[in-house]
Amino acid sequence: MAATQTPTADELKDMALNYFWPHSQQVADFEKEDGLHVIADGEGCWVEDTEGRKYIDVLSGMWLKNIGYGRKEIAEAVYQQMQTITYSPENTTNVPALQLSARLAGLSRDKESRAFLVSGGSEAVESALKMAKAYHKNRGEAGRYKIISRQNSYHGATFALMGLGGYPGTQGFGPLLPGNIHVPTPNNYRCQFCSLAAECNVECAKEIERAILHEGPETVAAVIGEPISTSATMVPHPEYWPTVREICDKYGVLLIIDEVITGFGRTGKMFASEHWDLQPDIMTMAKGLSSGYLPIGAAVARKSVADEFIGGDDKTFKHLFTFGGNPVSCAASMANLDILENEGLIENSAAMGTYMYEQLQTLYEHPIVGDVRGGLGLLAAVEIVKDRDTKEKFAEDSGLGDKLTKGFLERNILTRQRGNLIFLSPPLCITKDEVDYIVSNLSEILQQVSAEMG
Ligand code: PLP
Repeated sequence: MAATQTPTADELKDMALNYFWPHSQQVADFEKEDGLHVIADGEGCWVEDTEGRKYIDVLSGMWLKNIGYGRKEIAEAVYQQMQTITYSPENTTNVPALQLSARLAGLSRDKESRAFLVSGGSEAVESALKMAKAYHKNRGEAGRYKIISRQNSYHGATFALMGLGGYPGTQGFGPLLPGNIHVPTPNNYRCQFCSLAAECNVECAKEIERAILHEGPETVAAVIGEPISTSATMVPHPEYWPTVREICDKYGVLLIIDEVITGFGRTGKMFASEHWDLQPDIMTMAKGLSSGYLPIGAAVARKSVADEFIGGDDKTFKHLFTFGGNPVSCAASMANLDILENEGLIENSAAMGTYMYEQLQTLYEHPIVGDVRGGLGLLAAVEIVKDRDTKEKFAEDSGLGDKLTKGFLERNILTRQRGNLIFLSPPLCITKDEVDYIVSNLSEILQQVSAEMG
């Protein structure tokens, strides 16, 4: 079939069932009733499938469609760039890559930061880890190779990153890289420390100091964490990040802040680390950097880190990706940042995030709602429990997930529900009416699921 011909529904299903390998999903899911959704168009918070059915996207694709779907300005910027240069040859660079680097430095807390451009979040984090280890080697401390990360966090799919956070999805791939140390993630709903104390004592931050001392500071390269852990969608205590920064400084350990999800307005600020006036040593970013219009990511190092790579050949950061600094991706990213800034979408994220969080409080009328999380921009989640008093979860085979998924699809809502959490992170261009639509439908779904689960 020619690429320009529109396939029929049967042809699409045949291709999906026989030739297409979905990420982290069973092909058999496409056989289920309402199991195959082929998206063909989109505008704002809405997407449309090949059958003309419309859905509201409550997860912004995968926490990345920050400016929303269907922005012709990005297509225009890409078209313009494609008419000039689409790749800069060996040992050269290009105008959009330089402009984007300067712009990212300008957006960073340290205005003299340097950007290492890559094609996505995993490459950004992988680069940051290697950068941290090479930084210490360049300073004569090659023994620093260990990375401290928080339990149940996710920082990417590559082999080196699977060991970060001890994320459950990393199982079954054989031995992981040595040197991954895991500490607790701030979680004020299920905290293993605060439950024993009168109030939050930021023990989860102090665990990082204990881990550094236990391992030996001379062996630790970096601590990595998302400013707000997305897998838990937990805003940490105000003292958490200042305490972590202080600990890292005390032991000469670099602090890598992973802004892959939280960056570019998601939490109501350009970067979530701004909520704590936090200075990262290296900041990783992707997703909202182009709002998913083209693949791009970056590891942005503050000057004091980047300067350690300046000097003779032995100082060079020997690490490259073919698509790093691709001019077309960089042009798309620049146009995306223009929209984000010129249309006040970060301010809208703050305002609509507060409104959505307030509206979500009404869900407590359903006894299966254990915790409503959010409050900083459009990064929210609802935790479902079997018993609100004991916080007991539904069993994995309870059918909760299938019931929620069915409820969402019946109401033309696309989002992610994992375990006992429902994630709510719509595009930053969302309106009040759309928030109301999401919350009222979610309430109806929870009503129905509560009844079904007894
Ligand atoms: N870091 C965080 C916090 C993420 O959530 C993700 C992906 O979801 C990544 C890194 C990896 O990004 P990518 O999927 O673009 O490789």
